[in-house]
Amino acid sequence: GSVIGILGGGQLGRMLSVAAARLGYRTHIYEPMANPPAADVAHAVTTAPYEDLAALEAFAKSVAIVTYEFENIPTSALDALEAHCPIHPNRRALSISQDRLIEKSFLRDLGLMTAPYAAVDDAADLAEAVEEIGTPSILKTRRLGYDGKGQERLKSPDDAEAALAAMKDAPAILEGFVEFSHEVSVIAARSLTGEVAAFDPGENVHVGGILSTTTVPARLTEAQRTDAVLLAAKILNALKYVGVMGVELFVTKKGLIVNEIAPRVHNSGHWTQNGCAVDQFEQHIRAIAGWPLGDGSRHSDVVMENLIGDDIARIPAIAREKHTAIHLYGKAEARAGRKMGHVNRVTPR
Ligand code: ATP
Ligand code: MG
Ligand code: MG
Repeated sequence: GSVIGILGGGQLGRMLSVAAARLGYRTHIYEPMANPPAADVAHAVTTAPYEDLAALEAFAKSVAIVTYEFENIPTSALDALEAHCPIHPNRRALSISQDRLIEKSFLRDLGLMTAPYAAVDDAADLAEAVEEIGTPSILKTRRLGYDGKGQERLKSPDDAEAALAAMKDAPAILEGFVEFSHEVSVIAARSLTGEVAAFDPGENVHVGGILSTTTVPARLTEAQRTDAVLLAAKILNALKYVGVMGVELFVTKKGLIVNEIAPRVHNSGHWTQNGCAVDQFEQHIRAIAGWPLGDGSRHSDVVMENLIGDDIARIPAIAREKHTAIHLYGKAEARAGRKMGHVNRVTPR
């Protein structure tokens, strides 16, 4: 079979590689750090920085298509690759999701609801933004944040100075704090021919800014479920997107508010591995390889639990549980806050 190139060798790249292998493809991982989780299951690995144009060119020539498992890839790397092979999802989707300010204005332009926001580059901007948006609010770096990193909460305007200092001069965005009842996400896919399919929305609980559990079915009315899926489809179609995307939503009395989009397979979609015939990883490979989308209808209720840091020590006990599927990422060191694996606890419908 032909080779699929994946930028990023973390657990998402690992699970994409496994799904690709099941469909008869090989994967070539490009990852700056040595011995990444995906290296164990990939056909080839290039260890080089995203700035190494010669390594990028050689990588692009060795693969039929390129995808990514990580949204913070410099767009200059995509330029070097694009000359040699197609990249899915496209660079517009990547660049929008890399910058919270651009992301929010894109979503607003589509007619979707976001938190109130304002750009913050300095103390004067922040004073104005706090005046306009008020507190509680959250100051976030525009770029490079994940797992709640690069975020400071403002309980009152008095917190502004310390929050700005924590941004370390990086361009930032102030977001009004959304009074949500709970959080959900939609994992949706669009094929090369423009077919769109969405998995059932999952309900997400974050602890300390990191996803802890995803539960399906989520607590949503039929109308909310329909809204969630339609708004995800609107985003995918607007971007002429190819592949799987994660759309994070806040559920509020006023309706669904989009928090952020991730142009890749998503942690909150891991439940699909044991809840659907075709999971998000296979769906992504199908989409980018030009296949029809698979059947992602949910055959079971699932609670996905992330195993973070020392949680991994619970594996011997978890291994005795019934109806529990274990997914480990092969990471040697269990550092605090590090995603080591996840489990899917399954109840057939
Ligand atoms: P991820 O790992 O999902 O990429 P991230 O670092 O990009 O996370 P966000 O998704 O922006 O961070 O925020 C993490 C969590 O913080 C959200 O899931 C939500 O619980 C809370 N949060 C973020 N922004 C807001 C907001 N404007 N109002 C209320 N809660 C928020
Ligand atoms: Mg994010
Ligand atoms: Mg998020």
